[in-house]
Amino acid sequence: MANLILGRIKASIGNIGKLKGHVGEAKGRAQEDLREREAAEKSPRSIILTKNEVQGEWDASRVLMTTMGGKTRPITTSDLAQFRHNMKLAQRNFNGDGITARQVIDLSASRPMPGFTPETDLDRAKKQITMAVPASAMNGQIRFITNAGPDSDVNRHHVTVRFNAFSEAANRLMSSKVRDSKTPKQVANWLRKQKLAFDCDCGRHRYWFRYISTIGNFNAGRKEMGFPKIRNPNLKGVACKHVLRIMAEVESSGNVLNFLAKHMEKLHASADNTAKHTARQAEIDKQKASATRIKTSQQRAAERTKAREKKAIHDAAKKVKRIVRKPVATRKIEAALASGQLSASDLAVLRKFNMTDKQIAAKLGGS
Ligand SMILES: [Zn+2]
Repeated sequence: MANLILGRIKASIGNIGKLKGHVGEAKGRAQEDLREREAAEKSPRSIILTKNEVQGEWDASRVLMTTMGGKTRPITTSDLAQFRHNMKLAQRNFNGDGITARQVIDLSASRPMPGFTPETDLDRAKKQITMAVPASAMNGQIRFITNAGPDSDVNRHHVTVRFNAFSEAANRLMSSKVRDSKTPKQVANWLRKQKLAFDCDCGRHRYWFRYISTIGNFNAGRKEMGFPKIRNPNLKGVACKHVLRIMAEVESSGNVLNFLAKHMEKLHASADNTAKHTARQAEIDKQKASATRIKTSQQRAAERTKAREKKAIHDAAKKVKRIVRKPVATRKIEAALASGQLSASDLAVLRKFNMTDKQIAAKLGGS
């Protein structure tokens, strides 16, 4: 309980700690993950469902469990066919090498991984992940740090994003002069909309989603070949809350754009199309925890429609006002008629001489 409270306090502060040593920490966690995974597969009591087993090379005497269908039960050979089918369904959402930040957010909304509560990974990203900063970059691979959620046993997570179009970005920069300062920012803005691959060191990514990113070819960490028969047999969802928050940042934050632009500037000036860049601690300390606005394409479209409707109502109201409100000269004539300053017959005579309201009003004088 004390840990839980401490976790909440940590999350509410949204502190992501020291930049120094972040690469070592991330690498250490990745090595630990790899070591555990290798040991799990080597164990004589391994419960990992391997690639070849899913493909049908299945020893029927092996008892492995799945939660497919809602409750935990032993896997049968017809489950294997269903697993392969689920893989094809999931793969249909991805094409080629990588995935865009926008696709990750949209797929999380349209194919969420159902949990014990109605809250989705996207909901948790919005509520719990209040800090997400780019820490360092090397040749288009960016290391991000996020705060951990309230129930986590660590206080931060490392998310790696690899921009697959990095060499294309480098080639674009080669044709512009070194003194040209506009192009790196433009290329950075282009790069962040292109396909990428990602990895997170959290358990959710490890056990639920790493398999999907492996078969979808947008995995920036170790490959996961073991089918998630217990956690995610229907292969729903695509990314954990940390990755989702980062995807929103990659796509639309000024902070990430500036960071990427600096990386592109170094690439632009480099002699061999390689570049390294690290944020400064002061830059990170400056950033305040903030509630995240992660919008799906559907939400964006709805907002655009709403804005259009609002504008249409506004425009219509303006038009009505314009019709109702007569020109100053006309109103002046009407007032003169009402007060007797001008008679209807005099007005008729003036009209016969093709005088405009403006000219008649001028003759009436006053203001
Ligand atoms: Zn994560």
